[in-house]
Amino acid sequence: MSHGIIEKNLTEVKELIRQSAQKAGRSPEEVTLVAVTKFVPVERVIEALRLGVTDVGENRVQEGLQKFPALAEFHLTRHLIGHLQKNKVRQALQLFDIIHSIDSLELAQRVNQIAGELGLNPGVFFQLNVSGESSKQGFSRDDFFSAAPQLSPLEHLKPMGLMTMAPLAKNMEEVRPVFRALREIRDELNQQHYFLKPLKALSMGMSNDFPVAIEEGATHIRVGSRIFKNSESSSQEPE
Ligand SMILES: *Cc1c(COP(=O)(O)O)cnc(C)c1O
Repeated sequence: MSHGIIEKNLTEVKELIRQSAQKAGRSPEEVTLVAVTKFVPVERVIEALRLGVTDVGENRVQEGLQKFPALAEFHLTRHLIGHLQKNKVRQALQLFDIIHSIDSLELAQRVNQIAGELGLNPGVFFQLNVSGESSKQGFSRDDFFSAAPQLSPLEHLKPMGLMTMAPLAKNMEEVRPVFRALREIRDELNQQHYFLKPLKALSMGMSNDFPVAIEEGATHIRVGSRIFKNSESSSQEPE
């Protein structure tokens, strides 16, 4: 049974957010906690929403399609955090408010086109592969700077910022340079006015490394297992 476990986990996560923000001289209110609910049954998601979670992240369109109808009574912001296939764009835009995983110019153009058709103005993050791991999606730094002049005029998108996934590491200090690099890329883009409005947001940090991500400027952390672990052992992916 899950009684109280999600509440306890959430309290711990919020305390860590507070401490990390304080360490960096930031306000904890600058950090949006996106509760990642992939593999989490809808009853557990509802429990988290009743405990005050306002932002939910799924990495697959299909799972959003299955769960979101049951969450209709809640005011929540729905984030797509996983790779988006071009043939799922229309569905994704009908389900999600914010897309964290714009990882190519072609995808951005497709999302822009369909958003226009649907009369939507989705918030988007551009995903960068800062660590250069071949297993990770996203623009390289150089590709992103080359693409930016074609990304910024996409009038139906609301560019919020940059997103990255850090490599798995035993010690979260090892991934600090990845988070720092993303922040520096954002600052450089803004200094050179690549986008009409400055990109403010940084989506970075997961269960294992969000404290360091916050210290390096994360505005959106994507936390799954740290919130939902042990809340229902049978349907949870092993950590
Ligand atoms: C699963 C996932 C997360 C959350 O991972 P945890 O380690 O469970 O916190 C964050 N971002 C993306 C893109 C994910 O797929």
